[in-house]
Amino acid sequence: MKHVLCGKCVKCGKEYAAVPDLTNCECGGILEITYDYTYIKTQLTKEKLAARTERTMWRYRELLPVEETTEPTPLRVGWSPLYEEPRLAKELGLKKLWVKDDGLNPTASLKDRASAMAVAKAREAGAKVIACSSTGNAASSLAGNAAAAGLKTYIFVPSRAPKGKVAQLMTFGANVISVQGSYEETFELSKAAIDKWGWYNRNAAINPYLSEGKKTVSLEIMEQLNWEVPDYIAISVGDGCTIAGLWKGLKDLYAIGFIDKLPRLISAQAEGCCPLNRAIESGEDWYPMEENTLADSIAVGVPRNADKALMAIRESDGLVVNVSDAEIMAAQKLLGKMCGVFGEPAGVTGTAGVKKLCEQGIIGRNDTVVSVVTGNGLKDVANAIAACGEPISIPNDMELLLRAFAEKGIVVE
Ligand SMILES: *Cc1c(COP(=O)(O)O)cnc(C)c1O
Repeated sequence: MKHVLCGKCVKCGKEYAAVPDLTNCECGGILEITYDYTYIKTQLTKEKLAARTERTMWRYRELLPVEETTEPTPLRVGWSPLYEEPRLAKELGLKKLWVKDDGLNPTASLKDRASAMAVAKAREAGAKVIACSSTGNAASSLAGNAAAAGLKTYIFVPSRAPKGKVAQLMTFGANVISVQGSYEETFELSKAAIDKWGWYNRNAAINPYLSEGKKTVSLEIMEQLNWEVPDYIAISVGDGCTIAGLWKGLKDLYAIGFIDKLPRLISAQAEGCCPLNRAIESGEDWYPMEENTLADSIAVGVPRNADKALMAIRESDGLVVNVSDAEIMAAQKLLGKMCGVFGEPAGVTGTAGVKKLCEQGIIGRNDTVVSVVTGNGLKDVANAIAACGEPISIPNDMELLLRAFAEKGIVVE
């Protein structure tokens, strides 16, 4: 890879050759993939990019850590829509608001970006088996992307994972281990099994290539905005790999001169599980929290990528916001009703955070904001029904329909 320099530890600075099965630094720190931006500048221009017809994450190949000969993965990952939402912007009191619906990826979450990268690197490594632990979406995205590429998977999920995600896993033919315990315990068992059998490791805070896949979300946002930088980008945070990836993409674009400034990040967590935001607020180290929220994908009490996430939030002069489950449910309803976007609870937590910051007057009329919806609501229908209610249920009878409309106060136009 001519354009990749190395994997560099974010803690001690030690550098490693960028081999396909790269994992953590020997000091335990997480590695960051570093690039030769001078070389990349000679290879990639905005015009060249604009002329490309490939509408997937692989259109940014010059900025991705893969060999020139590595084939794009089979599923269509990336290039999710970025919707401008003037009505919701007005409702919240923002100058401009865009919603990036990453729930429209093939297995319905942003995690597809990381899993596609994992599959590409596993193929480079000549691996036949990939494994991970996950709150659910990393699992289903790995299972789907690996199935399409003909690779075998072993996947560890906490037993609380919603049925929709488990159904995806079973359908994609993964070997699924539902661990009766917290996400932390799930992670530990997966780690022990990976060490024992030597599978290719798709655990996001260990494999440094994964956030390079995730960063394509911000490469896309900026290209879709024609390189006009918004004031803020909001996203939900669990392990912290997603927000770190998002930030890396922005910094890459800045380094090659595609954007001339950097937006501020908004890190949204659930009140019942917000160890990273709490660290930012207190200025102290993070410490573990209980996993007490219905937003299962971000119920991460022991964040695995704390270093990179905290660095990203601080470097961007970012904002942190914690939202209650009720606020998450309200955001789910709002996005559905005003935008036609159906997000899972963790998927809409970024938007819930934006709404709260508007209500608190911390952001407002002069601000432009991109809010990333990270996962699709169909993954967790039980919580969507809980948030948005049950339908009118009646037999085939016009009288009963009229009565039901009257009872609900529905005025038919
Ligand atoms: C994984 C996930 C997140 C958070 O990503 P982290 O890397 O764990 O911070 C947010 N939303 C959804 C839907 C996810 O699946």
